[in-house]
Amino acid sequence: MSTPGSNFIGINLSGIQARAALIDQSGTLINTKVAEVAPKELIPQLAAMVEELGSRSSIAAIGVAIPGLVNRQTDRVIAPRDLPATMVEDLHGELMRATGLRVELENDANAAAYGEYKVGAGRGARNLFYMMIGNGIGGAIILDGKLWTGASGFAGEVGHITIDTEGIECVCGNTGCLETVASAPSIVRRARERLNRDSTSSLSRLALNKSFTAEDVAHQAKDGDDFALMMIERTGKYIGTGVASVINLLNIELVVLGGGVMDAGALILNPIIQEVKRRAFQPCFEATEIVAAKLGLDGAPIGAALLARDANTE
Ligand SMILES: [Zn+2]
Repeated sequence: MSTPGSNFIGINLSGIQARAALIDQSGTLINTKVAEVAPKELIPQLAAMVEELGSRSSIAAIGVAIPGLVNRQTDRVIAPRDLPATMVEDLHGELMRATGLRVELENDANAAAYGEYKVGAGRGARNLFYMMIGNGIGGAIILDGKLWTGASGFAGEVGHITIDTEGIECVCGNTGCLETVASAPSIVRRARERLNRDSTSSLSRLALNKSFTAEDVAHQAKDGDDFALMMIERTGKYIGTGVASVINLLNIELVVLGGGVMDAGALILNPIIQEVKRRAFQPCFEATEIVAAKLGLDGAPIGAALLARDANTE
């Protein structure tokens, strides 16, 4: 038996893409890799990706972040958002067999939170709440250096707190969840609805593009399009409403906001902070700093690698 390596690989898995990061023992990023993956070929594709990033003898363990809930006791994936069931039946066991390495599975928001906490926007903080606002909305709580995952591993599901009691149905079965108004697809839906019913909004450049994305809304807002700017600001209000509840509950020192929707930068961060200030219990608001994430798309793979590093040292 050779001694295990000292580097770690983290892989963030979405439906069709795997994004991997190789880090050393200290958490320094050595290399990244992005590849398209096909559900049927997932395990061999991931094993090949691992091999390309480092020889087996140099790697100690692999962390895999997935957009679903993970039961850490059983290492099974529950309710994956956009992963076909065949991909996740026994991802943990199969990837261990294919690579010969220890594998740790984690929810993607938890992994990104851990990455930001250790080497990103949360560096130096003791406790933080992280929110990932992208195709869905996830969240994670880190208390005293550890992910607080709750009774069965699912803590931090901030995307499913109710924002609008009269709202539309969510994938979770509830209605009016934060995710139904502030995720990237929800921003597009709300913008479309408004374009259809409000003639003044047709002056927006978004009205010219039948298949615009949330990214386009942010881009037009940055370019000074009033309608796009209003959509981003309203989205910020919804997110701020959610964040206000979180800080009232946790009185936490730092809130880190990541995910694609935050690419709008200050245009969305400022209305979020304004809304939190308006709604939160004032002493809680004053004790909290609200910042944008720093690691971007590498946050989840780096965090997954760091979680794999720290998993056996507890
Ligand atoms: Zn929901």
